[in-house]
Amino acid sequence: MSKENWGLCKECKWWQIEPAATIEDQTVGECIDDKLQKFSIRITGNGGCSRFHEGKPARASGSSEKPPTAKPTR
Ligand code: SF4
Repeated sequence: MSKENWGLCKECKWWQIEPAATIEDQTVGECIDDKLQKFSIRITGNGGCSRFHEGKPARASGSSEKPPTAKPTR
């Protein structure tokens, strides 16, 4: 798997966090990448993967619950 596409959740457009959350390493959100969202991945800002796509996180209430209850907004 290529390392060049790997990046951090806190810099990824597929990371979805609570509406008022700050973007930090320990902030919890969910991954809404179209291929990964079926797994309800709950992950902090310093997580990452090779599905990374640079951008600002999406925001929705329930993104940090266990399991996440927010619908993907992208
Ligand atoms: S797990 Fe991967 S695709 Fe999902 S938010 Fe984190 S870096 Fe982005």
